[in-house]
Amino acid sequence: MKKTVLVSGGAGFIGSHVTVELLEAGYDVVVADNFSNCDRTCYEGVKQITGREDLPLEVMDFCDAVAVKALFAKYPIDAVIHFAAYKAVGESVAQPLKYYKNNLTSFLNVLEAAQEQGGCNVLFSSSATVYGEPDSVPVTEATPRKPATSPYGNTKTMCEDILRDAVKASEGKLKGILLRYFNPIGAHPSALIGELPRGVPNNLVPFITQTAIGKRECLSIFGNDYPTPDGTCLRDYIDIVDLAKAHVFAVTRMLEGKMKQACEVFNVGTGRPVSVLELVNAFEKVNGLKLNYKFAPRRPGDVTAIWADPSLANTEMGWKATRTVEETLKAAWAWEKHLAGK
Ligand code: UDP
Repeated sequence: MKKTVLVSGGAGFIGSHVTVELLEAGYDVVVADNFSNCDRTCYEGVKQITGREDLPLEVMDFCDAVAVKALFAKYPIDAVIHFAAYKAVGESVAQPLKYYKNNLTSFLNVLEAAQEQGGCNVLFSSSATVYGEPDSVPVTEATPRKPATSPYGNTKTMCEDILRDAVKASEGKLKGILLRYFNPIGAHPSALIGELPRGVPNNLVPFITQTAIGKRECLSIFGNDYPTPDGTCLRDYIDIVDLAKAHVFAVTRMLEGKMKQACEVFNVGTGRPVSVLELVNAFEKVNGLKLNYKFAPRRPGDVTAIWADPSLANTEMGWKATRTVEETLKAAWAWEKHLAGK
């Protein structure tokens, strides 16, 4: 029988790509979203890509405990992937309570409902932000976490601990996987789903594509005096489809009883450091255009260099990133052009 995966925040950037990959791998998916930070574009795009006009959508807020319990009662949920959360680092510094309230309450509600139905497999979308500025790179899952530099980052660390404790106390009923994402970028090759930031993008690639299309005048590269080969920060940019596939491997691992511990953690990255300047140059080259950019002061809170050692995910889950930065940047540009109707 087909297994059912609940994807909270399933209409967002990562959630929509994960939904496509789950459906293509033969899972039934329930998308749940309150559309607080996205519109219906990606949900409609998922239906178009997969031909699943009947894709269940529940418009709901995961902070509503009654609604979350009703959701678990309505569907036979075998696994849940939790994305529903606020994600703007700067906003979280200005409005910490909003972030703690939303990101913690929604996850606690999921875990309570999962517990009440007798257990579940829970995949939490964590982040490389939990490593802070690491003492050495690349980082493995055993690299110590550092105190978060923002309330947003802190909610990731806290949710990791909450899941670990809940799994431990559940006597085998709850299983958990924490996926620590590095820098997800790009879009689906169909150009029907992609990143849709509201307002001025915080992240590098949407800012690049919006500058290239003429929505933004100039990209600021934050800092060119870092102790790196070209002075700009180093990150591990992971293609969104590669990242989405990691979720399918993780869910299958949980559902097929292949986990070695009741709560596991995996880095989801490429293992390849790329500087901001290298990324900008690659975007220009692969798409045959010139980008208007300037060097600007460092952005507070940015770490100098972080990239993954993804070998645990490679060997244990059998997942590996396959796409080149060039392919990914082509897809990101195709998506921006699709949005502009070009
Ligand atoms: N960055 C930049 N200009 C921008 C946005 C980001 O130079 O308009 C840099 C940022 O300083 C960092 C890298 O791009 O070194 C990736 O930033 P992003 O916000 O995409 O992800 P983060 O690594 O902060 O999670």
